[in-house]
Amino acid sequence: MNAPLSAAALYDRVAHVVPKAEWLSFEDDIDAILRLKRERNAVILAHNYQTPEIFHGVADIVGDSLALAREATKVEADVIVLAGVHFMAETAKLLNPEKTVLIPDMGAGCSLADSITPEDIALLRQAHPGVPVVTYVNTSAAVKAASDICCTSGNAKRVVESLGVPKVLMLPDEYLAKNIARETDIELIAWHGHCEVHELFTAEDVREMRAAWPGVTIIAHPECPPDVVAEADFSGSTAGMSDYVGSAKPGRVVLLTECSMSDNVSVQHPDVDFVRPCNLCPHMKRISLANIRAALEENRHEVTVDPEIAADARRAVERMLAV
Ligand code: SF4
Repeated sequence: MNAPLSAAALYDRVAHVVPKAEWLSFEDDIDAILRLKRERNAVILAHNYQTPEIFHGVADIVGDSLALAREATKVEADVIVLAGVHFMAETAKLLNPEKTVLIPDMGAGCSLADSITPEDIALLRQAHPGVPVVTYVNTSAAVKAASDICCTSGNAKRVVESLGVPKVLMLPDEYLAKNIARETDIELIAWHGHCEVHELFTAEDVREMRAAWPGVTIIAHPECPPDVVAEADFSGSTAGMSDYVGSAKPGRVVLLTECSMSDNVSVQHPDVDFVRPCNLCPHMKRISLANIRAALEENRHEVTVDPEIAADARRAVERMLAV
């Protein structure tokens, strides 16, 4: 994705999701960020849950955690600004140890990443000797370092099946593990972490939506509870959701995930009607044009990873990328 040369020039792209008056209030920051990127040889990696003025206004690379991790290995800039949450910035740093990686707000965390520690993994290994540990990328570098291999919601099934064993510890998202367990013969031992955004959706919500909008297509993220995923028409990572909308072209769709996802996919598919009963991620929403601009102007906040942890964490991420 190429960022445009000026804020005014790209308004047409987002016109049906962002009012013109609101866009005008973004233009000064967008133009400043586009200039700062050129001056600092910087790129902005933005997660699918970032707001449209970031996603469509200043980002160079957009996608889900897997896409951002993959693209981070190819970045040639001197500076990477991660418009997303802290574990994503750590992953970018792991894969680009010689580059400056900035996150606009150090408080952009994640309930899944906070749900487990390396000490928890050590105890799980004691309780399940010889069982490999697969950790979701939504974890700290220290937790990645304590695991055998990482996965994302987009490749979790492939990763667990690549190990060639009958039983796997799949951490820390309980719902992702249970949703993947329904698709594979491998026994998955789960942890009790949850995404605070996706755990709020219920099967009752799905039934109410079907009653309110007959014929609607319902797509659930695999971090949603298993009974929600079971009642949805399709389940996939944010990239999987976007691809599904592009190929199936539903007339009306609900994405059971973070709110900005529908805005961003809707820009690419203006002919699809998006119903939006979404939930906001307070961590993702800590990132704004103003703090991206400040990050580039003031070189803040630099993300570092202890070299001893980094080597093992990088191994777990690179092993995933090789699957
Ligand atoms: S949406 Fe959920 S998994 Fe993603 S950053 Fe927010 S809390 Fe973490």
